[in-house]
Parts: sequence; structure tokens; C-alpha cells
Amino acid sequence: MRSSGWMAIATTMLGSFLGEAVAVGGEDGASLRPVQVKAVSVNDHFWAPKQKVIRRDTIPHSWPYVEPSIEEFRRLATPGRPPVEKHIKWGEANLYKVLETVAYALAQEPDAALDRKADEVIAIIAAAQRPDGYLHAWSMARKLRPWDDLYLRHEGFVCGHLYEAAAAHFLATGKKNLLEVACRSADFAWEHFVHQQNAGFCGHAGMELGLVELYRVTGNKKYVELAQAFIERRGQHPERAVRYPPAYFQDDLPVRQQQSINGHAVRAVFFTTGVADLALETGDRDMRAAAHRLWESATQRKMYITGSVGSESTQEAFGPDYELPNNGYTESCAACGMANLAHRMLRLEGNASAADELERVVYNGMLHGMALDGKSSYYQNPLSDRNRLRNNNWTCCPPNLSRTVLLVGKYAYAYSDDRVYVNLFVGGTGRIPLPKTPVALDVQTDYPWQGTVKIGVEPERPAEFALCVRIPGWCRGATARLNGAEVKKLELCKGYAVFRRRWVPHDAVVLELPLPVMRMEAHPAVQAARGKVAIQRGPLVYGLEGLDNEGLSLVNLGADPQFRVEYRPDFLGGVSIVHGLTAEGKPFVAIPFYALGNRGKSSQDVWMNQQDKRENRDGWQGTLYREYRGRPL
Ligand SMILES: [Zn+2]
Repeated sequence: MRSSGWMAIATTMLGSFLGEAVAVGGEDGASLRPVQVKAVSVNDHFWAPKQKVIRRDTIPHSWPYVEPSIEEFRRLATPGRPPVEKHIKWGEANLYKVLETVAYALAQEPDAALDRKADEVIAIIAAAQRPDGYLHAWSMARKLRPWDDLYLRHEGFVCGHLYEAAAAHFLATGKKNLLEVACRSADFAWEHFVHQQNAGFCGHAGMELGLVELYRVTGNKKYVELAQAFIERRGQHPERAVRYPPAYFQDDLPVRQQQSINGHAVRAVFFTTGVADLALETGDRDMRAAAHRLWESATQRKMYITGSVGSESTQEAFGPDYELPNNGYTESCAACGMANLAHRMLRLEGNASAADELERVVYNGMLHGMALDGKSSYYQNPLSDRNRLRNNNWTCCPPNLSRTVLLVGKYAYAYSDDRVYVNLFVGGTGRIPLPKTPVALDVQTDYPWQGTVKIGVEPERPAEFALCVRIPGWCRGATARLNGAEVKKLELCKGYAVFRRRWVPHDAVVLELPLPVMRMEAHPAVQAARGKVAIQRGPLVYGLEGLDNEGLSLVNLGADPQFRVEYRPDFLGGVSIVHGLTAEGKPFVAIPFYALGNRGKSSQDVWMNQQDKRENRDGWQGTLYREYRGRPL
């Protein structure tokens, strides 16, 4: 069953992989290429401490929660032992997400003990795998036939996380122990679904994007073929759906006809990521158009201002357009998925607007999910909340959050043949393997608290290329200096300031992004935000917490709330708080949304009442949130 040739390909590619990027196989040369986690170091005051918490605290904290999965794998190696009672059918996905987090941690910082621990766990997993490659410990322990309850058993979802973890572990360590397990599993699935032409697809998407990731490190096109089969089989026989309607599984229409993102939010976002991945690797323009439609549907009509998605709790699903209640479901996994999807759309279309959404979700909806201590988390991240404590709900979200926090450096950069992209402003270095010459970027910044971003450009040898620096969609009045000289007029392309020149070592661009406190408003069709505004500064959405405001978290704002920013290094890990005055003249304090709910029970709100707010229905084309400029005089 093992596919021939992948190991040779993997070995050949390994030399160019470590610290570098994977070549894009699509036909469209405009696609951006990613950098790998190992090629980036993060050393700023915002993300570096958060990533350290993940490495130091979250990973050790995680192992006991995935022990039922490890124990299930262990027991499978000894015939006759009963299944692990506490194990759930998608539990292995959590173990794989922990292993993926470990892979990124090892890519960032050597850790011999952690490396050994990962190898021990991988050996237990490998020993349990069936000789034919099938691997789903929960089903195997219960002696169930592979793939006979496709819609509801999560085998494909679990495999998708295995493939993502395996690719990450290989890129981080150069070891093939988990990659071999993943390839045997994927080969078995290809044999079943493609070669033997058995019908169906897994009802929880995730395998598609995992297969494409596996293709990227092995070059084995069978994996793209299988991903494509799973994607194209949607909507062909929707009457097959059980318990839930077809849309729940993105199965109501063929993908090329889907106009709107629907159904279970995590499934839908993972599915769309697979569609975008497929478009990236095949150059299929219809697939690309489908990804674009679903992305626009999500970001322009169905997304919270924090980047969270999935407002309906009954089916953990996307609701109708503009239906975004403040107590919506907003699962952390869906926010993590949105970051991943935004990264794919950015690569696919090269438009900074996708990086705007990537930034929105990682600084807000995603980061809110993980507690500042890196141990407890939120399953849901609603915009209005009352007295809910963080906990260790290991249904699915915590290891999704930990892996995503460690991916932020990777998201910050990209490149094409002669362009280097800075998408997010993360202090540290990125090594970009531009074909002409490797380029090191050295980013120094106190973003998001300060708007100055210094980008040192260090090409290995002088070369002409374009440095493309994202100007955030929320930002007005950005300016730049090149080697100390003011740039009179920024050349803008697809939301990036483009600096094209012959770069030599020690060149530097300094970007100044004004960071006023803004009041944001939602599209008038968003009922839950009517007559309301949200406070935002830079990429950070703010909220009020009762603890800071005599129990109140929802206030009325007048014409001029007299906002004032104060950086508090010893508060909530170091945050800028926003002081303001209510319409009644009472002072209030707002803190970043991501930091809410870290001090025990309280009430929390994002949308504030705005006195005399006039709903302006003009100019909303393609926009769900924009700055509220007050009543016109
Ligand atoms: Zn989750």
C-alpha cells in the first residue's frame, strides 16, 4: 500500500525545506508562497511571550487530556484489551493537534526532552496502525469497519489532523516517523475511495486540507486527487444526509455551484480551506472562484467584528447573512480555521484584504479563546457574555488554539518570484528564500501598542525585488521612510505599499501606522449592532468588563467619549487600556477583547450604545465593518 517514490522525493526536498518554503504547484504564478515556521523567529513584546507560554505551560498541560487517545493506541497493540471508555471518536484529532503544536515548538526552539516525548507517542501510534494503513484507533478498538459511517464518525477529520501534524513534524525535525504513518493512512484511503471507487466523503471536513498539506511535503499527487474527490463529491447525492440537513456537511450543492458558506461552521471553514488549497495546487479557476465566493460570504456577511464565525448554536453553524447575535456560538476552532483559511486566501489572491481578516481573527476571536495562563480556554467567544468561567473543555478547541498561536510568525511573511510580503507586523526575523537571493527581514516593533514598524532588509547579495508591506484596511494616513528619507507618495498595490528597488544589505523601511481609538460600526443589516459602536485601536477590538466598571459592561457613548490610551505593563500581561467617558459623564475602561475573562466571573460586552447614532446605508459594498465617524454636521 505504501506509495512508491515519496520517500525519495521527501529526502530530495528535505534539504530545501528546512527553513524555507514549499514551491507552489498551481498554474497561477501570482500565488504567494508561504514561509515555514522554522524560517521565522518571533522576539517582540506581544507574540513572543504568548508563544513562550504555549511552549512552557500549554504543552505540558496538554498531555493528560489526550491520554485516553494514547491509551487507546497502546491497547490496540495488545490483542484482547477492551476499548478506552473515556475516549471519543474524534479524540485522536486532539492528540494530533498537540503533536502539531509540539512540532512548531520544536521548530522555534530545540528541546530534546520534548522531541523524545513526541517520538515515544509517535511510536505508540505507529504500532497501532493496521498493516494495510488504516488508522482510527476509536473505530479499531470497537472493531468497526473502516469508512462505514462516513458522515458521523469523524475518521476523515481525524486523519486530516494527522496529516497536518505529520507535515509539520517532518518540516520541523526532518524525521519521517509520523509522516510514514500519515502516508500509509492516506494511501489506504486513496486505495478505498479513488482506486476502488467507493463512494462518499467524511462528513467532517478536514481531511481535504490535510491531504494537500501531505502532498506539499511528499509531492505525491494521489493525495491531491483524493482531496479533489472528497470536495467534488459534495452535493451530488444530498439525500444521503443523516440526522442533519445536507448543508450541515456542505453537501447541499456541488462546490462549483455553492454561493454561500453554510452549515456547521468548523466543517464549512475547513472545507473552504480545502477548496482554496486545491485551487492553489491545481490552478483550477472554477475551484478558485468557489473559494472566493465562500470566503466573501463568510467575511462580508457572516463574520463577527472579532473574526469569529458560526453564530447558530443549534447546529454550531453559520446563520443567514448578517445574523450575528451577540451571544452567538463562535467556537474557537472556527476562529482558528478562519486564520488558516485567510492565510490560504491571501496566498491564492495576493490581496492584503485577506491579511486584514487574518489579523482580525488572530488578534481577537482566536486569541480570546486561550487564557493568558495558556492552560484554560474558551470554547465559545461571544461578543456579550455573563459570568462564564474559562475551563479545560478538551472537546476540541484548546490544542487548535495552541497550534494557531505558534503559527503567527509563519503568517507574517510570504513571497513570490520577485516580491517579499510583510502581512502581519510581528517583531522578529524572517528568512525569505527569494529565488534571486535569500533575504532576511528584521522587524522591530511594539505593535499593536505602537504603530512604528521598522523593517530591516538584508539580501544575501544586492538584488532588485519588491518589498510589499501591508497597509491595514483600518489604517488612515500611513507614512513610510526608506533609509531615513520620507517616501513622498506610497505606491499601493492590492493593499500593499510596494517598495521596488535594488536592495542592498542594511536597507530599512520604517512604517508609521497611526493608531487612534476608533469607533466601529456594523453593516445596518446586523440587527445586534444597530445603534451601537465597538471600540477598536489598530487591529485590536476592545470590550468592557464589569470588573473594571462597577459591574457594568454595556455603556452609552456620547458624541465625544474623550478616549485616552494608557499602556499598563503590569496589567493582563501588558496591555494598552482605553479610558473614556460615557454619555452621562462617567469614566469607563475598555480592555482588548482577547484579554477579557481572565480575572474570574464578570460580564463582558463589545458593542456599546451610541447616542444619536444615524444609520448610514450608503457605501457598504463589500464591507461588513467600518469606522463610525459620528453624526455629519
Ligand atoms: Zn473546537
